[in-house]
Amino acid sequence: MATAKEQTNSLVEKDRNNIWHHISAYNEKNPPMIVESGEGAWIKDHQGKRYLDAMSGLWCVNVGYGREELAQAAYEQMKKMSYVPMSQSHEPAIELAAKLNKMLGDDYKIFYSNSGSDANEVAFKLVRQYHQQNGDHSRYKFISRYRGYHGSSMGALSATGQALRKFKYEPLVPGFLHVAPPDNYRKPAGQTIEEYNIQRALEFEEKIIWEQKETIAGIIMEPLITGGGILIPHPVYVEKVQEICTRHGVLLIIDEVICGFGRTGKPFGHQHFNVKPDIITMAKGLTSAYLPLSVTAIRKDIYEKFDTGEENSHLRHVNTFGGNPAACAVALKNLEIIERENLIDRSVELGDRLHKVLASLKGHPFVGDIRGLGFLLGIELVENKDTKEPATNARIGKIIGDCKTNGLIVGRNGDTVAGFNNVLTLCPPLSCTDEDFDFIVSVLKKVFKENE
Ligand code: PMP
Repeated sequence: MATAKEQTNSLVEKDRNNIWHHISAYNEKNPPMIVESGEGAWIKDHQGKRYLDAMSGLWCVNVGYGREELAQAAYEQMKKMSYVPMSQSHEPAIELAAKLNKMLGDDYKIFYSNSGSDANEVAFKLVRQYHQQNGDHSRYKFISRYRGYHGSSMGALSATGQALRKFKYEPLVPGFLHVAPPDNYRKPAGQTIEEYNIQRALEFEEKIIWEQKETIAGIIMEPLITGGGILIPHPVYVEKVQEICTRHGVLLIIDEVICGFGRTGKPFGHQHFNVKPDIITMAKGLTSAYLPLSVTAIRKDIYEKFDTGEENSHLRHVNTFGGNPAACAVALKNLEIIERENLIDRSVELGDRLHKVLASLKGHPFVGDIRGLGFLLGIELVENKDTKEPATNARIGKIIGDCKTNGLIVGRNGDTVAGFNNVLTLCPPLSCTDEDFDFIVSVLKKVFKENE
């Protein structure tokens, strides 16, 4: 009988021989963690060591791991009907679309795909076609923000504003432009937060004008920048961007791939602001990542341009797996759990508590800023609080490594090229218990104390 250690070693070797991992470079000295199981906020590796996953995987396991009723929902649906293309229809897709639409105020149509990238690609295609069908044949450009992430496929990557993820794959899709987002921690002295946020919003308008406004099709942005380092705008920013869009005939796409489904303390992140997006994309927390599913929600008055009965007026987009019946059944059950367990209120409560208990960290020599919305938090690490020089790689790596040694998985985000990959991120399952919460806080406090 092979020992547990030998079994793990054999898997590690097979992994090394066969898997090309996403984004990470592993080698003999630095093998990937092989995860065996999960329950609640906790995952267990192949050696039986437990970690609290304070990143919910890739910001997605909102209801936590090991939910039997989600497995059951998938099982029942697969047994009954495993596959229906979305050129036809089925009950879980119908019920889920009705449910999502209700959460959005009942005036959207729901288009199903598989991933966040897919959902954004659908948005780009339909925005271009919408303008075509309105006779606006010159509108094809999109504007997004530096530091924002919108996915890995060519269009979604073109919208992404993080150079390191892009430069080896260029040239990307023509017509994607970028402006700087508000970074309130680094706003210039002498400006109020409101003035600064309005000024940053006006960068969209400047771009629209310089580029010839009749060429601009859409703006895409997250309600707050997540992967780019948790940058939370003042409400005047988002509201001004919508006003600019309306004035210039530009459609506003809000990417809720991370911010949706309670993460920021509302059903959707944009609901913190007084805006009504034209298009909303969602994925991750929609199924809590139990199965792949994503959605592009389109305002009905926009959809009507595609429903004219004229030849070639419909959206020429199809994908095989989008709206998969088991994935829709799981999404429905996942939304039921979020409601039943009041996880959106819990997100607000845990987020508030986290801010309060971590306030003491503000005095730490390397903590420049702590910011968040709902149960989503960023701790910006700096070398020098006056100059705000980002913390060194070594320092950030040590803090994150020490968290892991103590059983806590945290994230690291920001913008690598500009040197601002210095934000420690927390995005734990919304289902964290009070004990889980205390564990997160105790490890953070211990690790920061040891790294003073
Ligand atoms: N938009 C945002 C805001 C994201 O964070 C991500 C993924 N991290 C995506 C889109 C792309 O999603 P996917 O990886 O499912 O394609």
